[in-house]
Amino acid sequence: RAGTSMEPALLFFSEEMNQHAKEHLRIESELRDALANGELLLYYQPKVSLRSGRIVGAEALLRWRHPVRGLVSPGVFIPVAEETGLIMELGDWAIEEACRQIRQWHDAGLEMPPVAVNLSARQFDTGLPQRMAAVLERHDVSPEQVMLEITESLLVRGADTVIGIMNDLVAMGLALALDDFGTGYSSLAYLKKFPISTLKIDRAFVIGLPHEENDCAIARAIVTMAQQMRQEIVAEGVETEDQMTFLRDLGCDQLQGYLFSQPVPAVDFQRMLGEGRRLALPHPHAERART
Ligand code: C2E
Ligand code: MG
Ligand code: MG
Ligand code: MG
Repeated sequence: RAGTSMEPALLFFSEEMNQHAKEHLRIESELRDALANGELLLYYQPKVSLRSGRIVGAEALLRWRHPVRGLVSPGVFIPVAEETGLIMELGDWAIEEACRQIRQWHDAGLEMPPVAVNLSARQFDTGLPQRMAAVLERHDVSPEQVMLEITESLLVRGADTVIGIMNDLVAMGLALALDDFGTGYSSLAYLKKFPISTLKIDRAFVIGLPHEENDCAIARAIVTMAQQMRQEIVAEGVETEDQMTFLRDLGCDQLQGYLFSQPVPAVDFQRMLGEGRRLALPHPHAERART
């Protein structure tokens, strides 16, 4: 009887896997068309200083304007693109588009903070520095205007190769940020060898601030360590004033999150910058008196 009672579950499971595979295939083929049809675009999310409240950077984030499904987030299509190798084309497109946009803002007379672009592990090959140099030249953008966000997942290529590529990029004048810090492996062992200027604390550790003791301890440890290594610290996914206050008091440099702004289309980011929009910072004295 054990055998027969398992059958429905097995049937269900394989049906579900079948659905998943179909969905995957659909996204893959539609994604190829998306590139050709110009359905991809970049949104920009400001990074703000926890000292001045000013916008001091932006992160470019991919979006897919699907003709039927509407705006699709990268959480849905990046994993598919990673698996199929399409991420190379997608990622190169994002770099190209960000540089085109930076040039346009520059031509419009805007004072632009650096714009960060995300890189997947597969893009991080020995040809990357040359591809970056070519894109920058094509759009007449200086390397100081661009930052690259990378994750520890690129270590699949082997630490020596990866560090070599990083050093080449830094020698070109590009700044590197380590994204999603704390969620990968071997963080501490490699951190001191990576020529990165910025550390981004993953949202997973920001969510629980200031109430979860463990999150507070992790955030404190990351900030202390980054300060010792003279790296800028950006907290991701900051949504509440309590989180902001906690991070500011820790000595965190920048914040990125819905508290200030969601990722927005280029025109909206440009407007925010033009208006000189600022984050309303808490009063340090009032805060100190409370603790
Ligand atoms: P990420 O690089 O860690 O980007 C931060 C993500 O957190 C973004 O999600 C952003 O919209 C979201 N976020 C920011 N502030 C908040 C907040 O206060 N609350 C919440 N709940 N979320 C917040 P998004 O845009 O969906 O992107 C997801 C991931 O997709 C990115 O994570 C990045 O790993 C990847 N990605 C996006 N664009 C590209 C790209 O051009 N190339 C590559 N290779 N990956 C990309
Ligand atoms: Mg990122
Ligand atoms: Mg991140
Ligand atoms: Mg992330």
